[in-house]
Amino acid sequence: MAVQLFQRTLGSLLAITLLISVIGSTRVQAASSCFNEAGAVNGTVVLDPGHGGSDPGTSNSTSATPPVLLVEKEVTLDIANRTKDLLVNANYKVCMTRIDDTSMGNSERGEYANSVGGTVYVSIHLNGSSDPAVNYAKAFFGKRNKDESFAKHIYQNGLAPALVGPYGVTGSSVGQFANGALLQATMESTLTESVFLTNDNEADRLADTTTASNRRNQIAQALFTGINSWAGTKPTSSSSNPGPKR
Ligand SMILES: [Zn+2]
Repeated sequence: MAVQLFQRTLGSLLAITLLISVIGSTRVQAASSCFNEAGAVNGTVVLDPGHGGSDPGTSNSTSATPPVLLVEKEVTLDIANRTKDLLVNANYKVCMTRIDDTSMGNSERGEYANSVGGTVYVSIHLNGSSDPAVNYAKAFFGKRNKDESFAKHIYQNGLAPALVGPYGVTGSSVGQFANGALLQATMESTLTESVFLTNDNEADRLADTTTASNRRNQIAQALFTGINSWAGTKPTSSSSNPGPKR
């Protein structure tokens, strides 16, 4: 009797554990999505809107009255969506690590990029500093052999020409960052810090979501230009993969 009860309890526990794991994996799948599944000819770009859920990232308030609070996790998701639209229009398949306000670990982001067969992985962040005057553009690589050339390309052909110069944004080229997603992802990967959200003038620019040349569109266009021009630097593969990037 006692053994039967124990077995039944064990069975129930196993069923509950299984149910929780199914719900957990469903939640992850629902929170991340791929776009342009059928029409992609130029490869699969994994876009990672930085932060999310319980991790807001950095933040700043605008000079408007009343001030508007800008939170990094919300702005990065919006910039990622704008970048996604540009890439889809240019015949890329785009997979996003999150499409809503979901918490994700860095390793989880890298594993997701691998699971969707990403050609490249681009994490989108806005930088933060205790000095509100600081504002520069930077791209990070994880593993030197795998990522450094790609990070440099995104910086030199995307971020720098679009963002460095106007409004006093300085350049900072690339740096190494042992970020879990960059290390976990097997494809060429970079983490971009295009501008500083903590810069007060930049916060005012980033608050604009509507005018055609708004700051979010400028950053999305810069990322798109960098990613799209990277394809042209890769030798054409003779394998069955039709993408120009390996
Ligand atoms: Zn960030």
